[in-house]
Amino acid sequence: MSETVRIALADIDRVARAALVRAGCDEANAIATSDVMVRAERDGCASHGLFRLPGYLASLRSGKANGRAAPVARAHAPGVVRVEGDNALAPLAMQVARTAVAPLARAQGIAAVAIVDVLHFSALWADIEGLVADGLGAFCMTAYLPSVAPAGAKTPFFGTNPFAFGFPGEAFIFDFATAATARGEIQIAARDGRPAPAGAGVDTDGRPTRDPHAILAGAQSPFGGHKGSALALMIELMAGVLIGQPTSAEAAREEKALGVCDGGPPRGGVLMIAFDPDRFGDAAGWRAHAGAFFAELRALPGVRLPGDRRRLERARIAREGAAVPRALWDEARRAAGH
Ligand code: NDP
Repeated sequence: MSETVRIALADIDRVARAALVRAGCDEANAIATSDVMVRAERDGCASHGLFRLPGYLASLRSGKANGRAAPVARAHAPGVVRVEGDNALAPLAMQVARTAVAPLARAQGIAAVAIVDVLHFSALWADIEGLVADGLGAFCMTAYLPSVAPAGAKTPFFGTNPFAFGFPGEAFIFDFATAATARGEIQIAARDGRPAPAGAGVDTDGRPTRDPHAILAGAQSPFGGHKGSALALMIELMAGVLIGQPTSAEAAREEKALGVCDGGPPRGGVLMIAFDPDRFGDAAGWRAHAGAFFAELRALPGVRLPGDRRRLERARIAREGAAVPRALWDEARRAAGH
């Protein structure tokens, strides 16, 4: 296990922003990208916190990411907005997408936003949390690079393809990779010399293993066998084919052709769908109904809902600071010139 140091969130933000600016980001891109890492650290999601900084920096340095991108939202169809990402790191484009989709969802009941030509490397809950806090529901999904073998296969083909869903009122959000384990968790296990969780993946011969290095060389497994495999496939279609963006396999071929296999996020798309529960026929009752539903659910012994851990961690880490591996903190500070 690597040695960790407790760092105040404000210091993580300061260092991450400076490192991003040094690698070519303008202020707006640096602030948005640092913000998603800081929020992940704040909520105890280390695999999408400062751990992602080297990947973001690598994509800026290779020229794959445009640190001065100015994503633009354009109406595309009555219920569809497109955000042209301009090869931005995704966080700034996701801000533009939320601003564009929220009024449309309120006006129409439901609206979709296709965010294209962005490099997504963060936790999806961060992309929809603001919408949910403002009273909207949301779905969000994105593809990645081939990392997961479809059920029955041993070759990586699907990305780890995360999927998030949020419902307002109780501000309920779940967000998970369709891989059995997020790739970042396996990379952290490899870094720390720990075994990967059981079921995380297979070696190059397709044999199940807990050796994180063997999984990274072989393939991750989808969660829930053929069920997670089908969800991963759906995400390739919805965040790739539907919106004219590369699938995970295509993104890898593109990176190879351009010589930008830099370890950072690939160019690709994100699909977000927002809906307004006030527009679905129970405007007067849905909040109380959801409240009663969650009260009954929470009363069941043993229930712990998605998001509960994050909320608990948020209060503690805001107070105590985040535990960051010393080597990563030193690397971030060097990149920031601090
Ligand atoms: P986890 O398995 O850690 O968690 C998935 C969800 O389940 C969370 O909402 C979590 O809530 C909840 N949860 C976890 N354990 C329990 C439990 N015992 N009971 C009830 N709920 C539980 O997620 P993954 O490892 O699959 O993914 C981690 C992150 O990686 C996600 O944020 C995802 O967006 C991101 N990701 C991003 C990618 C990208 O390309 N940008 C690619 C793949 C993943 P809680 O947080 O409160 O524990």
